[in-house]
Amino acid sequence: MLPDDLPVDPVQLLTWHTECWQCGEDTPVVWPRHDHLDTPIGDVLANYDTPVERVYSNTLEKEVWGNVCQHCDSYQGNHYIRRQNLTAHSVVRL
Ligand SMILES: [Zn+2]
Repeated sequence: MLPDDLPVDPVQLLTWHTECWQCGEDTPVVWPRHDHLDTPIGDVLANYDTPVERVYSNTLEKEVWGNVCQHCDSYQGNHYIRRQNLTAHSVVRL
């Protein structure tokens, strides 16, 4: 699901589908394998055709780079997505 022209080594990125907490639909998310999304890499991803956008985190009370649902635009919390990444031992590369 990552664009071919993305200036990031795909090996550095994990992608999978998560169930949106808001609308319940499956939506793609992306996460840096060895990093956090709310970093300059999020800025890069947001400039390309990815689920990443600048969003407001109610938890952190500031704007962050985060995944948004492709169906309802809800922010998929970084804390939750990061934990999914860390606990998903059988992450399927999409
Ligand atoms: Zn949704």
